[in-house]
Amino acid sequence: MGRGLNTRCLHLEEREGKTENYGAVSYPIYQTATYAHPGVDQSTGYDYSRLQNPTREILEKTVAGLEGGIDAFALTTGMAAITLLFELFEPGDHIIAEADLYGGSIRLFDNVSKKNRYELTYLNCAKDDIENRIKENTKAIYIETPTNPMMNISDIEKIAEIAKRHHVLLIVDNTFLSPYFQNPLKLGADVVIHSGTKFLGGHNDTLAGFIVTNRTDIQEKLRFLIKTTGSGLSPFDSWLILRGIKTLGIRMERSQENAMKLAEWLKEQKIVTKVFYPGLPEHPGYEIMKRQARGYGAMLTFYVDTKEHALKILEGVRMIKFAESLGGVETLITYPETQTHADVPEEVRLKNGITPCTLRISTGIEDYEDLQAELSAVFETLE
Ligand SMILES: *Cc1c(COP(=O)(O)O)cnc(C)c1O
Repeated sequence: MGRGLNTRCLHLEEREGKTENYGAVSYPIYQTATYAHPGVDQSTGYDYSRLQNPTREILEKTVAGLEGGIDAFALTTGMAAITLLFELFEPGDHIIAEADLYGGSIRLFDNVSKKNRYELTYLNCAKDDIENRIKENTKAIYIETPTNPMMNISDIEKIAEIAKRHHVLLIVDNTFLSPYFQNPLKLGADVVIHSGTKFLGGHNDTLAGFIVTNRTDIQEKLRFLIKTTGSGLSPFDSWLILRGIKTLGIRMERSQENAMKLAEWLKEQKIVTKVFYPGLPEHPGYEIMKRQARGYGAMLTFYVDTKEHALKILEGVRMIKFAESLGGVETLITYPETQTHADVPEEVRLKNGITPCTLRISTGIEDYEDLQAELSAVFETLE
C-alpha cells in the first residue's frame, strides 16, 4: 500500500534520503532562466527554464502522484492548460463536451477552438446518451463533475467505458473536487485538468493550471508542446502552489464541512427556492458521488426567489466576498450570470439552469457560525 494522500501532499518520496540544498525542508525556488553546462554536449539535466525547472518539476511530480498519473504539467493558468491540451487535436476533429462547463472553457471552445475548426457537441453528460453522439471524427469527451455551476454529477467510470470502446480520450476537469476527493484517472479517464488557482493553491493568491495523464503517448506530446509553446509555470508560482498543497487535505475537509452545514441551512430559508449540493441525499448525483469520490466538495449553488434578492445578497455581504473564483480559504459568492458565465449565450445559460436568481458559493475555512450569521443578517433585510 502506498502512502496516504495527506502524507503525499507534504512529502515526495523520491526526495527522501537526499541532502541536496542543505537539507532544506521547504523545497527552494530555483529562480533561474538558464543553467550552466559542465561541458560541450553535457547537461545537468536542466538547460533552460522554459523546458525544465527544478521547483516546477517537484510540483509536477507532487500533483501527478496525487492524481495517480505518470506525469503532470504545471502551466500559468487553468486556461493555459486547457489551451495546450487542445493542441493535441487537428482541424476537423470532433469533441463532445459537457454543456454546463466552466464559462471560460466554453469561451475557449466557442471562439479559439472553433477558429481552429474543431467541431463541438455540447451534451448534458449526466443525462444524455453520449455513445449515440460519437462520430467517425470524435477524438475526445470533455467533462466536469460536479459541473460548474449547476453541480450535475456524471458517472466517470461509465463514460470512460464508452470512451475506451470508441478509442476517444476522456478528459475530466477535476478542479471542483481536487485530487483529495476524486481521482478520475483511477476511474478510467485519460487526462485530468486542474485550475491550480483554486483548491490546489487554495489561498486566492496565485494562478496556475495542470494537465495530468497516465498515458505515455500524451505525456511525450505534451512535453514537446510545453517546451515549444512556453506556458510553463514560473518558479515562484510553482513554489506557492507547492506550499498550498501542503494543507490541501485539512482545507478540503474544513471547507466541505462548512459547505454541508450551509447547504442544510440554506434549504430552510424562505427566500431560497432550491439548493444544489451533491452532499445532500436528495441530490440526483448523490449515489454516484458516494461511489466515485471521497467527499462532496466545498461548492454549492442555490436559487433565490427573485433576481432583485440575488443582487441584494451580493451587495449585502461583507466578510463573504462577492468575487469570481473559488477553492480558497476565504468564502466567495459568485453571480454566474454576469461573472463566470457572462460569455455563455443567454439561451444556453437558461437551458442549463443558470437563471438570474442563481448564486454560487465556494466555502472557505471560516468558523461556520460567522458564515451563517452574515447570510442570515442579509436575508433578514429581504424578508
Ligand atoms: C477557474 C477554472 C478554470 C480556469 O482556470 P484559471 O486558472 O482561472 O485559468 C477551469 N476550469 C474550472 C472548473 C475552473 O473553475
